[in-house]
Amino acid sequence: MGVFSVKTKIVFEDGLSSVLDQIQKAFIVSDPFMVSSGKISYVTDCMEQSGKPYKVFSDVTVDPGIEVVTAGVASMIEFQPDTVICFGGGAAIDAAKAVMYFAEKTQQAGKLLFIAIPTTSGTGSEVSRFSVITDKERSIKYPLIDDSLVPDMAILDASLVTSAPPSITADTGVDVLTHAIEAFVSTSHNDFTDAAAEKAIKLVKDYLLRCYTNPDDLEARQGMHNASCLAGIAFSNAGLGLNHGMAHALGAHFHIPHGRANGILLPYVMSFNAGCAEKLTPTVNRYAQVARLMELESSSIRQSALNVIRTSRRYMEKFHIPTSIRAAGVNESDFEAALDDMTASALADRCTASNPRTCTAEDIKTVFRKAYIGKLP
Ligand SMILES: [Zn+2]
Repeated sequence: MGVFSVKTKIVFEDGLSSVLDQIQKAFIVSDPFMVSSGKISYVTDCMEQSGKPYKVFSDVTVDPGIEVVTAGVASMIEFQPDTVICFGGGAAIDAAKAVMYFAEKTQQAGKLLFIAIPTTSGTGSEVSRFSVITDKERSIKYPLIDDSLVPDMAILDASLVTSAPPSITADTGVDVLTHAIEAFVSTSHNDFTDAAAEKAIKLVKDYLLRCYTNPDDLEARQGMHNASCLAGIAFSNAGLGLNHGMAHALGAHFHIPHGRANGILLPYVMSFNAGCAEKLTPTVNRYAQVARLMELESSSIRQSALNVIRTSRRYMEKFHIPTSIRAAGVNESDFEAALDDMTASALADRCTASNPRTCTAEDIKTVFRKAYIGKLP
């Protein structure tokens, strides 16, 4: 049974003041940078003006782990809020989701109003039923996937993103592209998820480079903010694929930021899914449709798919993202030593389940090795 659901009310620009009457007591989840830079005042000023109590939990780290979630649950239970507002990048939103999830599962909290305010354009976490938590000791990233994780409201204010440095803009933007492409070719895609993914791909094509070269271009920033959210709607319903399964494993082992890990792997995973090196698969037709969206179409389906694959690698070069795992600074012996573990994690990752081409451990190893040396057909 196919389902398409968008529960989150999406508000553009400064929408927090419009919902203050629904908030009595707010638990604000953020990261230390948002507090030290004063950006958190976007939320706290609003709460101060309303005179309503609030508490800031800002211990969220780059790849939030179980210990951050446990501390967040304890802090939230102590405060007893009726609303959770998360303010930050994907890590802050994912951490807030996990805190609410575990507090509810352990019956320490009931249903709370959940408002997400993203300050990067990347994870689409503000509308998705996904949250990724890292077990640092075991170098594993776990995607939690549950309908209860979807925020009630997302505030998409592009003015919050203009201060993101070019490297963050690139990493997060490439994550958006990967979400849209993986959702578009996923085994669970449908006309509704396609609509969201197609628009996201077009917005990335039109606006990502503009955001990268001119961070203050507000029109481009809003375009990428919307692309991130639309790609989130697409993959929240259609799922992701092998690219994310492998990126979670690669990122957890070698501390490569999530979006960058996706960008490094994207051409090699697409090449595997399309069967470009051996026998073409039915997925090649979907990549040919991506080629049309990106204005890379050629007279043959194989060539159109190859154009997408090769252009995606040139894209990484433009954004100064490494085009192979080796170029990302991973030493060959460390890579080989981690390969079995990474392969097992990628195979078991819940994202891999909706990949359009079924894959064995041996297939994943081959893709990892091609991505290590940067080998494309
Ligand atoms: Zn992602």
